[in-house]
Amino acid sequence: MRKIGLIGGMSFESTAVYYRLINEMVRNRLGGLASADILLHSVNFVEVVDMQKAGRWDLAAAHLAKSAEGLKNAGAECVLICTNTMHLVAPEVQAAVDIPLIHIIDETAEALKAKGLKRPLLLATRYTMEHGFYANRMKAQGIEVMVPDADDRTDMHNIIFSELCAGTVLEASCTRVMAMIEKAKAAGADSIILGCTEICLLLDPDKLCLPGIDSTTVHAQAAVDFAFATATDKVAA
Ligand code: GLU
Repeated sequence: MRKIGLIGGMSFESTAVYYRLINEMVRNRLGGLASADILLHSVNFVEVVDMQKAGRWDLAAAHLAKSAEGLKNAGAECVLICTNTMHLVAPEVQAAVDIPLIHIIDETAEALKAKGLKRPLLLATRYTMEHGFYANRMKAQGIEVMVPDADDRTDMHNIIFSELCAGTVLEASCTRVMAMIEKAKAAGADSIILGCTEICLLLDPDKLCLPGIDSTTVHAQAAVDFAFATATDKVAA
């Protein structure tokens, strides 16, 4: 098994989900008391949020690049940024290390394509829904991402930062997001991307009126697939 490097803490609520999922996937595969070989660098989220709010993506890129270097130097064989939003700086993070960065958008696109889905509603932070880095990368894979309207985007963003990242899960917010999903279905969406790594705390992707793809689960699965990939797969990749 290869060693998985995680840049987490954004927020720690979702990193805890990654940690559990990756270990469960390894145990399901190997049985018994097997667990994953993981190095985790959990950053102080408030520092990252301040950089996001100030639009200082350059500082955020340097911060996460340093984290990736630390993981690599400690022996990690791949690196995951455990948040969709911070994939805005994924190119800089990948450039800092010579181990693969397992990209959450690419893995989510693969999961959609495997099910023949092409017109997903993206539920995510304002940065992910509005900045363009997410939709453009999906478009390059033939997937046209839809986003909620402006009021719904504001509510989604606030639910993520004021509630989910702070450890609060409210029934009323679940109902609110379900209404966004119904609207998107009526507007032609064929699926839902849980495109923020905390949304799985609020919604069960298998209990929506459209097929749901959870970015946290898909990303965790990709890490485990990498950990078990053979040397031959590695060359092919
Ligand atoms: N974990 C969230 C995401 O997947 C939001 C936190 C952040 O801003 O990084 O986008």
